[in-house]
Amino acid sequence: MIYLDNNATTQPTAKVVEAMLPYLTDCYFNASASSASYTGAEKPYHEAASTMATLLNAEEPDCFTFTSGATESNNWVFASITKGRKSGRIVISAIEHASVSEPAAELARAGFEIVQIPVDDQGLVQIDALRASLSEDTILVSIMAANNETGVLEPIAKIGQLIREHSPSASFHTDATQAIGKIDVNLQSDWQDVDFLSFSGHKFHGPKGIGGLYIRQGIELEAMLLGGGQQRGQRSGTINTPALAGLASAAAEAINLKIDKISNMRDIFETRLLEALPGTQIHSKSVARLPNTSFFSLVREDGEEVAERLAASGIIVGTGAACSSGAIEGSKTLRSMGVPHSISSGGLRVSLSKFSTIAELDALLSNILHGSNRSGKIVPVNESQL
Ligand code: PMP
Repeated sequence: MIYLDNNATTQPTAKVVEAMLPYLTDCYFNASASSASYTGAEKPYHEAASTMATLLNAEEPDCFTFTSGATESNNWVFASITKGRKSGRIVISAIEHASVSEPAAELARAGFEIVQIPVDDQGLVQIDALRASLSEDTILVSIMAANNETGVLEPIAKIGQLIREHSPSASFHTDATQAIGKIDVNLQSDWQDVDFLSFSGHKFHGPKGIGGLYIRQGIELEAMLLGGGQQRGQRSGTINTPALAGLASAAAEAINLKIDKISNMRDIFETRLLEALPGTQIHSKSVARLPNTSFFSLVREDGEEVAERLAASGIIVGTGAACSSGAIEGSKTLRSMGVPHSISSGGLRVSLSKFSTIAELDALLSNILHGSNRSGKIVPVNESQL
């Protein structure tokens, strides 16, 4: 199997699996029991918090509360910020993941004012529209750090500054699910205005079903789940020690990740794709993007059909958002960028990981070429050129 859909999920590394195993076998104890310091069961929680704090340069490990993943973290922020209020303005971008846009839509039905900021033809949030949306009534701004489809990077530092200038009492949340482990994040330098940040471990080689919410030191957020008072009362429920051990290990590996090799591979792939199939449109190519992501539209092809044909030959790519039910409604991100359906329908998303190789990308290219009966030649690249 050639797996090139790493924005959907990633393979847990051998180290991650190894780190998890003891907490499924010998050390299965409850991390919140008074015996935890003797059994060692409290270790994964502390390790995950301190490693995440190092990875994102957060003020302290206690800034992290662990959840089942970004969907839960995003929902938590929207529910908690609006709790006890009847109205207020909430600002999101037009290209947010459904786990942000759906809670926002529900709040709109409950009487909150939702302002959706449009993006330009590259997928960047329109700054003038954002500035205009910031007022005394604005209670929350939620703009994603990196888009799951195109990989476009929103200017989080600049957005944070604008919020502080024009709407100082508003909270700033960013869904950084696709950014973690792929770009440098520094919560005490350029991202110092971010109040809340969501992430999922499985997007950077950790296990599924574990993620978290960063809450800036000194900020109070209403608890997510009430119960036994675990995680400082922020999110009750027995601590998921195997998943946290895996998350800690994945975060440690992400600290040392060499991303240049991945972006070089992506760039070589795109050059060769354009050479082989002129007319292919690569989305968001002229702005800052995630180093591992290439979202392109083939001319006169149906992306879904091509992806299925590739999957039948053992090559897995994406066609955009992976989480929806399979309904063919086209890419929300491309629609928001004003890409016509005739082009967006040919969309394929290739997202690499540290396990991806040039040989895999060659296999993908020749499959795209030959599967569609097009002529074209692919000259193999030597791995040492990367
Ligand atoms: N936000 C973004 C940008 C995502 O890409 C995803 C996963 N596709 C999520 C949130 C939700 O993550 P999870 O399914 O792990 O909760």
